[in-house]
Amino acid sequence: MFVNDCLNVNEKGHLTIGGCDTVDLAKKYGTPLYVLDETTIRETCRSYVNSFKKFYDGNGMPLYASKALSCKEMCRIANEEGLGLDVVSGGEIYTAVQAGFPMEKVHFHGNNKTADEIRFALDSKVGKFVVDNLYELELINQIAEEKGVVANISFRIKPGVDAHTHNFIRTGQIDSKFGFALETGEAFEAVKKALTYNNVALKELHCHIGSQIFDIDPFVTAAEIMLDFMGKIKDELNVVITELNLGGGFGIMYTEEDEPVPYENYMEKVSEAVKAKAKEHNLPVPYIYIEPGRSIAGEAGITLYTVGGKKNIPDVRTYVSVDGGMTDNIRYALYQSAYTVVNASKADKEATEIVTVAGKCCESGDLVQEHTKVAEVEVGDTLAVLSTGAYNYSMASNYNRIPRPAMVMVNNGESRVIIKRESYEDIVRNDI
Ligand SMILES: *Cc1c(COP(=O)(O)O)cnc(C)c1O
Repeated sequence: MFVNDCLNVNEKGHLTIGGCDTVDLAKKYGTPLYVLDETTIRETCRSYVNSFKKFYDGNGMPLYASKALSCKEMCRIANEEGLGLDVVSGGEIYTAVQAGFPMEKVHFHGNNKTADEIRFALDSKVGKFVVDNLYELELINQIAEEKGVVANISFRIKPGVDAHTHNFIRTGQIDSKFGFALETGEAFEAVKKALTYNNVALKELHCHIGSQIFDIDPFVTAAEIMLDFMGKIKDELNVVITELNLGGGFGIMYTEEDEPVPYENYMEKVSEAVKAKAKEHNLPVPYIYIEPGRSIAGEAGITLYTVGGKKNIPDVRTYVSVDGGMTDNIRYALYQSAYTVVNASKADKEATEIVTVAGKCCESGDLVQEHTKVAEVEVGDTLAVLSTGAYNYSMASNYNRIPRPAMVMVNNGESRVIIKRESYEDIVRNDI
């Protein structure tokens, strides 16, 4: 009935998530409120882990791309489910450390790691640096030398596959701020350079071709291109790279128009391609990483709001104002992202009213969704926006000095706070 399996409707006609009544959650914890279903998160983690076992002899590991939703509880769950972690900043490293995450299973990404972040990552014993450019390579080597250690590195490669949307293009992806281009020879030169440094050890190659991807073909193509490159490195430099990181980007359902394939299908097709290519190039079958972010947290999460006002502009539209908006979910303002909105107070009623859900910030563009169909809205209703587990809290801001909402984890009818609501005191904490 809903795009997310953890949702249902109870006898009161209220939307439920993980067996909890959302109207009760809104009352108990206040709104806006992020709610995450633990079962959904863990099941998704397991489906990735199991796909490695089923199709690749367990010779790999999913890394949770924590930028989708970084907090201590997500780190703990990822660890318990046997995933590693992908981080992109000192703050995400710190979060992992604080959660007691095994840091050797952490990959450090980003196109501009600062010297401080590199030092912090080395001190924290981060497992691998995914190097973005030559300046960074040199900087990591230099800082590792100062510390008397060898940093394990990977290279972020632009494989020339662009798959940000429903289809993909094979060429012309040189224009990306991330990584080394293959077709210009830049990536090959970087590999040669790394081999001349004493304090970095090249272990892996990495690519990430986009996000919210529904096709399997671009992943397969990217994997093949990467294996070809590993073959070239072996043939011309006599160096065998034994690990391959294929990034994330697996699509989720925001609305009924989205049709994700089961996640294990990716591994099925990608492992076939990788094994075949390894054979062709006489390479050992590489250890594989993938980096799902959105698909682990996204569908598990919803956001609850309380409707504070309704404005019907005849022949134009009806605005429904909620107590959050771009501060807790900037994705519509940023990229007109589609979301499903449900009147959680009347989830048993047919969606008959077309409304624009507006946030409370001083920006006309502060909209959560435009022209969306919901059951007739009254002031005081609880509205739920679905599939907000990823890239919502992690992109939240304090614009207009609005405190960030709390996040609650639900599990089989039980609920607990995993991120506290910010207070006004928090808002001025760093003001002098
Ligand atoms: C963003 C990102 C991911 C996660 O992408 P999703 O679409 O959330 O799965 C993985 N790896 C890298 C390098 C990324 O930048």
